[in-house]
Amino acid sequence: MTLQCISPIDGSVYATRDTLSRDAADAAVGRAKSAQTEWAARPLSERIALVQAGVAAIGTMNDTIVPELAWQMGRPVRYGGEFGGFNERASYMASIAQNALAPIEIEDSDAFRRVIKRVPHGVVLVVAPWNYPYMTAINTVAPALIAGNAVMLKHASQTPLVGERLAAAFHSVGIPEDVFQNVFLDHQTTSDLIADRAFGFVNFTGSVGGGQAIERAAAGTFTGIGLELGGKDPGYVMDDANLDAAVDTLLDGAMFNSGQCCCGIERIYVHESLFDAFVQKAVAIVNGYKLGNPLDAETTLGPMAHVRFADEVRAQTAEAIADGAVAHIDPADFPEDSGAYLMPQILTNVTHDMRVMREESFGPVVGIMSVKDDAEAIRLMNDSAFGLTASLWTNDTARAEAIADQIETGTVFMNRADYLDPALCWTGCKDTGRGGGLSVIGYHNLTRPKSYHLKKA
Ligand code: NAP
Repeated sequence: MTLQCISPIDGSVYATRDTLSRDAADAAVGRAKSAQTEWAARPLSERIALVQAGVAAIGTMNDTIVPELAWQMGRPVRYGGEFGGFNERASYMASIAQNALAPIEIEDSDAFRRVIKRVPHGVVLVVAPWNYPYMTAINTVAPALIAGNAVMLKHASQTPLVGERLAAAFHSVGIPEDVFQNVFLDHQTTSDLIADRAFGFVNFTGSVGGGQAIERAAAGTFTGIGLELGGKDPGYVMDDANLDAAVDTLLDGAMFNSGQCCCGIERIYVHESLFDAFVQKAVAIVNGYKLGNPLDAETTLGPMAHVRFADEVRAQTAEAIADGAVAHIDPADFPEDSGAYLMPQILTNVTHDMRVMREESFGPVVGIMSVKDDAEAIRLMNDSAFGLTASLWTNDTARAEAIADQIETGTVFMNRADYLDPALCWTGCKDTGRGGGLSVIGYHNLTRPKSYHLKKA
């Protein structure tokens, strides 16, 4: 099968890649399994240094990577790529590796040696999405390698050059070719490999449907899986919030990357006392965006990664308007709207009966509702199939923490949004999936505990 990356810039075929046959995929898994034993036997400090060198090598490619990203998935070049977050996450995971992976010593006496070690799973399959193709992949790739696993990366068809860049960087610094392999796999072969227990662990980041397919493939194999799936993340602006900070951050969270952020803000609830002012400021911000070719330095809003994503957002928006939602952005101000190029939109008079407030939009549209009090906001925030993050805006930390305790998400932010802190666990509940990446918990999920109970004769 041949995978095609259709560029959202102009609809041209930007890259094609052939997928591996089942035999070739089996051979790749076999090589990874053989190479992993030697890799895991190396000192941890050596693996850390090699991964850090590989990450730095990606940094040297950044000038090439930035326009490549624009061609593959449409993010404007003015944002400079992903190396900042990519490096921050990998560096943090490198910095905690010695402690996170340290054996838990229970006893080492004349009578017994009792210790719990953390051992790698073997070969880890990483399935990565196109929306932040470097940052999402490195969350698992760096700690998995550091922990002594071999990694096979199956990246999205929309961003086929990303895995190749990562492979080139890691191999250039001396990570063996069979320890980190970039592979092109079709969905069926991916499922078949998982079902045949090719991998010790699978980390999937992507859609709910994709996550379900991975879980079905793994059923009965007892293969560990981590699923980082979709979101419908809310923001809640309380009566005591800093309005300017709230509107700036929440609108950026809704619109950055054309809304294609897993933890992008898709619903906003504002206390009735601030509602009108919030909407007015939000509309002013969005009217300042420049939709256009992402290679143009002036462009702040690029095309969506694929025309089918833009059409889904158009459909959700049109349905909401037909059902009574009020659209605040005038299409006449965004004449570039066409195909993958989608104008941003702010909707009020929305309800939770509308798809735009229930289903993941993953695009530059946000619905804003007025709420009377915390109880109403909590009920609405939790009225969702997803549970990734929520963003609370208030000057009262105790109030935010008390609300956070009642919110069904993997992360709760106060006075910020749309940011992965590598020291905290990246996780979700409900349809957002399960497991956890980054932090010490990320290492625990990429290894298994092994107990040594040694009685000295
Ligand atoms: P997607 O279609 O599920 O694709 C994501 C990755 O999974 C791609 O590599 C894709 O390969 C692969 N894939 C999908 N179905 C598969 C299957 N049945 N078997 C094997 N591989 C499969 O997701 P998307 O729509 O491109 O990405 C956006 C989604 O990702 C959104 O829902 C977003 O919320 C979610 N996301 C979540 C997080 C998080 O941390 N929670 C982070 C980023 C994105 P192909 O490209 O070859 O189809």
